[in-house]
Amino acid sequence: MGDRGVLTVISGFAGTGKGTIVKGLMEKYDNYALSVSMTTRSPRPGEENGKSYFFVSREEFEKTIEEDGLIEYAEYVGNYYGTPKAYVEEKMKAGFNVILEIEIQGARNIKKIYPDAVLIFIMPPGADELEDRLRGRGTETDDVIRKRMDRAALESDGIEDYDYIAVNDEIDKCVSDVHTIIEAAKMRPQMNEEFINKVREGLKKKASR
Ligand code: 5GP
Repeated sequence: MGDRGVLTVISGFAGTGKGTIVKGLMEKYDNYALSVSMTTRSPRPGEENGKSYFFVSREEFEKTIEEDGLIEYAEYVGNYYGTPKAYVEEKMKAGFNVILEIEIQGARNIKKIYPDAVLIFIMPPGADELEDRLRGRGTETDDVIRKRMDRAALESDGIEDYDYIAVNDEIDKCVSDVHTIIEAAKMRPQMNEEFINKVREGLKKKASR
């Protein structure tokens, strides 16, 4: 069977806990690699360069675009965000499932470039729960929470562009659901062409005897 990793896009509204799900996957299984994006936005408290993001200037970002160093990039709320190419290619070849935690425009672009990529949208159990979680963080003003809820309403129109949804009701369950989706994706015929051809050739040889 094929041993190339699956390129996996994970998206979800702010507050759905997609970061926690990705962290859970990395901790529970050893065949995942998380791609670190490049961005022009400023680091938030606690964010480290090279871990959360590669924080760069607009000039550096545009230079990387020109050098064809990004698989995809998008402008989101006034800043550039993009996926560095080299890391993704290298890790997939080495058999890791590479996770991209990106927004919807990026997800659509990835599907065009890598048709075998698996797009997963992490859903909250409901709209009330999402609002409760955003309020529960206790760090944001009412105005910011309203903006995030408005954005979620807009983003919800794009969910059907994804291959799967996973509901983050209970974290462990959601982590194992996402893992199941990715493992199943490896069993698609297009991920196993070499193996299928080998068996098919063997069968055809036997059939002509
Ligand atoms: P934040 O500023 O909250 O970290 O991220 C804003 C949005 O940009 C999130 O939806 C996040 O998933 C998305 N994002 C992060 N990295 C990338 C990337 O490399 N490409 C794209 N298209 N979106 C990204």
